[in-house]
Amino acid sequence: MKSNMDLKQHSQAQQYALKALKTYGAFAETWLGQLDDLAARPNRKEYSPVAAAAAARTIREAVQHREQQKERCCQKCGKQVAFHEFERSMRLFQRIYCGKCFDETCVKRRNRETGVEEKKDIKTVDGTLVQSTGEKMIANWLANARLEYRYDGCLRIMDGFQIRPDFYLPQFDVFIEYWGMDTLRVWGNTVR
Ligand SMILES: [Zn+2]
Repeated sequence: MKSNMDLKQHSQAQQYALKALKTYGAFAETWLGQLDDLAARPNRKEYSPVAAAAAARTIREAVQHREQQKERCCQKCGKQVAFHEFERSMRLFQRIYCGKCFDETCVKRRNRETGVEEKKDIKTVDGTLVQSTGEKMIANWLANARLEYRYDGCLRIMDGFQIRPDFYLPQFDVFIEYWGMDTLRVWGNTVR
């Protein structure tokens, strides 16, 4: 009975300690590993694992908040970078770029990869300037079908992939990405 009481008191003390730790917020970042361990302990009847999980959650939120508040500058142009821009550019380039420099870098990289230079000099039926006959065919088809479209939108990250959809249909929220290869293989022959 006595030892039970001791254990209970001990568990209570632990709980208070955990609650106290929680108030340190981001300053308690180094404790996160131990808190996770404590929170993951199976079949513990005491409240400590729950308190540990709560403390870890609060500290993580504080750390995230601190990261979001940090001032960061674009490595290219020096402009201040918003947190979502920072996250995105770190994920793709492991460098800090503002939205504009991010887009420019993506375009440069894409052009380098495909060997295609930005050149829009083909006119479609509605006067839009596009880059290839393939794109012209799509644009003409959309225009003839009286479907509203936007050509050559911004770069987007979708499901972790970097894409720059050539056409966007706002009525349907649909992107069309034309893979600008001018050659098409049919029956083993190359048709241009
Ligand atoms: Zn920049």
